[in-house]
This record gives sequence, structure tokens and C-alpha cells, in this order.
Amino acid sequence: MIANKCLKMRPSVLFAQKLLIWNACRNLFVRSMCSAESEVSKAVKASKTSFKTTIFSKILDKSIPADILYEDDKCMAFRDISAQAPKHFLVIPRKLIPSLSDASSGDTELLGHLLQVAKQVAAQEKLENGYRLVINNGPDGAQSVYHLHIHVLGGRQMLWPPG
Ligand SMILES: [Zn+2]
Repeated sequence: MIANKCLKMRPSVLFAQKLLIWNACRNLFVRSMCSAESEVSKAVKASKTSFKTTIFSKILDKSIPADILYEDDKCMAFRDISAQAPKHFLVIPRKLIPSLSDASSGDTELLGHLLQVAKQVAAQEKLENGYRLVINNGPDGAQSVYHLHIHVLGGRQMLWPPG
């Protein structure tokens, strides 16, 4: 009787498994085929329709934990999870500006504030011997998250030119 039940359930289970596999494949495919161009349009679209879907938005609303070093009503600074230097943190605005290219003249004060916070947190992190600020912009700039962010790296000798 139990075996019979299992047999009966099999086609639907198989279908569900196939659906899961198909979805996983599709996700992988979309991720691997995602050109830099569509990444940008996706980011712009996300800024208009699904504000909460970016990873940084989730760090901002604290639904994803981060090692937060500083925060105020305009921005947040937290450690980069894939650190490229002994000290590596990001400064991001609360406002979702996908990239520096998308910043308007109305964002001038906010952009200045991000630099001030970068400087302040660098001092807090005891980077008195220097540090580097990086803003990756667009595909050629190797921007991977379309929520404007300043990388602050320090604690080692930086090279020039950067890669
Ligand atoms: Zn980045």
C-alpha cells in the first residue's frame, strides 16, 4: 500500500525535481550569460522597481548582517567580505544611486559626505600611513554591485597603476 502510494506520487515528485533542476540551470545560465550591459540595465530597473533587492539595500536595512564601522542618516560604512587588503571597507549612500554615472548634481553634497566618512573611518581604522579610495564605475570599471560604493583599502603598500 505504501509502495503503491509512492509509485503514485512519483511522477509529481519527478516533475518537481525537474522543475527545481531547470530553475537552478536557468539561474546559472542567466548568471553566466549576464553581460555587463544587461547587468547595468538590471541595476537601473532595480533602482526603480525593487529597491530592496540589492545586497547593499539588505545590508542597509540590516536583513543581511555586516561588520558595520559607521552609520548615519545618509550613509553606512562596513567591512568588505572579500577583503583585498588588511583593511578594506565600503562606504555606501542610503540612497540607491546605481553608479557614479547615475549621480545627479543634487547628489553633490551626499558624494562629499561619503568622502568625509571614508576619511573619518580610515582614521578610526588607524590607517595613518595612507590608504586608497576606489569607485568602480560600469562594466569597464569592473563594477559588480550596482549601488554606488566607495572602496577604502589600506594596511599595505598599494601599487600603481591599479589593474
Ligand atoms: Zn565594489
